[in-house]
Amino acid sequence: MRRLFFLALSGVVSFMVVTSGQAPASRIAADDRTPKLIVLLTVDQMRADYIDKFHQQWSHGLRRLVTEGAWFRQADYPYFNTVTCVGHSSISTGTVPSVHGMILNQWWDRGAGKQITCTDDDRATIISYGKPVKAQGESAVRMLAPALADELRAQQSPAGKTIAFSLKARSTVTLGGHRSDALAWFDDSGAWVTSTAYSKGPVPEVADFITRNPVEKDFDKVWDRALPKSAYLYEDPAIGVHAANGMTPSFPHALATAGSREPDQAFYDHWQSSPFADEYLAKMALDVVDHMKLATAGGRTNMVAVSFSSLDKVGHDYGPNSHEIQDILIRLDRTLGDFFAGLDRLVGPGRYTVALTADHGVAPIPERAQAQGLDAGRVGTATVTSAAEHVLAKAFGPGPWVNRIIFTELYLRQGAYEKLRGEPGVLAEVRAAIAAVPGVLTTYTRDELASNQFLGDPIGRQLVRGYYPERSGDFAVVLKPYWMLQVDGTTHGTGYGYDTHVPLLLMGSGIAKGEYLAPASPTDVAPTLAFLAGITLARAQGRALTEALAPITSKK
Ligand SMILES: [Zn+2]
Repeated sequence: MRRLFFLALSGVVSFMVVTSGQAPASRIAADDRTPKLIVLLTVDQMRADYIDKFHQQWSHGLRRLVTEGAWFRQADYPYFNTVTCVGHSSISTGTVPSVHGMILNQWWDRGAGKQITCTDDDRATIISYGKPVKAQGESAVRMLAPALADELRAQQSPAGKTIAFSLKARSTVTLGGHRSDALAWFDDSGAWVTSTAYSKGPVPEVADFITRNPVEKDFDKVWDRALPKSAYLYEDPAIGVHAANGMTPSFPHALATAGSREPDQAFYDHWQSSPFADEYLAKMALDVVDHMKLATAGGRTNMVAVSFSSLDKVGHDYGPNSHEIQDILIRLDRTLGDFFAGLDRLVGPGRYTVALTADHGVAPIPERAQAQGLDAGRVGTATVTSAAEHVLAKAFGPGPWVNRIIFTELYLRQGAYEKLRGEPGVLAEVRAAIAAVPGVLTTYTRDELASNQFLGDPIGRQLVRGYYPERSGDFAVVLKPYWMLQVDGTTHGTGYGYDTHVPLLLMGSGIAKGEYLAPASPTDVAPTLAFLAGITLARAQGRALTEALAPITSKK
């Protein structure tokens, strides 16, 4: 506490010293904190404690962020459903899911009577940069708050240019917002794509990069450790590893399946679960920044957003204690080193602002947690469903009464919840039956979440921040820590520390380097960047991280 006070006080003193000799008008005109380019980076599934545990393995870009940037060590998501679409939307809008409406990656659309994905848009169609792709059109139409990217375009004159890249549509689209100058994500079938929501056809600068750099060039690559084996923590192979799609359970990992002569589905899967995909994304982003001339801002602030997806794909299969996730980060450290060197060249050192965070963390693989003596395990979705079904059938007659469980949201058949409201005894029995399933902590009803009376109940408060009445389930099923509705490997998606606690690093234009221990949230990223760019977010719930802003130092 004393240290924090000192930090806060020294910030005030230095600000006063620097500004006291200057006329107010010149202060306003000379805000040299304003970046030419915002560089918004997310590392999918990166836990905050990966920095604490693995930073000695890094010497390039990640190291640079930690040593030259503002390092917020107490950044947490304030809500429960910590999954990709939710996290990226919260980073991008500075709001929580009860406002931006992206409550999960998928939910039940009561109006349409079907399960939808957060980025589904029937009015949009997919544009492929390669082979023809048959897929649902995607956009941010279901994201009910403007993204930072939207405001950079709308509020500046000339409008800011914004581009976004990731392997995943839900990461690209949410970071890019409702319109953008160039978005691209990777369809699992093996093609870069975008959507008619963003451009009428392929964006020439993106198409040009993809033509010059076919993913298939990586076909013969083998992913092996970048450092000597002794530099890695924990056991190998990882305990409970679930290598998917024919990946080997430990190093080395050849991208091509033995005997396969040309790029096939297995290659595209393996490539996405390798550090080569992160390298590709960074190179593509830098190249498009260059060719779309985002570095020459002309008085405005432009934005490039990249979400690095491979850590998530590898983390689900190999877990947070694996050599694989350590190696993804060692490679990402190098990739970001090159990326920042490229931005220094294009934009100029200190002329751009980087923000790096994650959309969620991850739980340890339950089998490993159990081996360490922790109360951990797996809960079968069918076990939860049949516990509820049994009670409902007894009270109301033959079912099925449960429509489905999507993640931890349980949706009843149309009208069934309303029926339960009139039968408090049956409702209590349903909840007791679900709570009796091993690994389940408790349930919350939609009425409880709507009434929002959670003084002294931190989980209730977390759930409310993720509750959107038209989209959320009739029950939220809350598991105990280290338990998951996942049949193999591991996952994320709870309000527990291993899922909510993520890195938050800022670096470059306008940022005062240092270690910051005050509580922060990824919802603070957009308000901080908006402040630096001189624009206003309509409904941000996060705060500008003012303690990490450098004082204004020069006149222009
Ligand atoms: Zn994710």
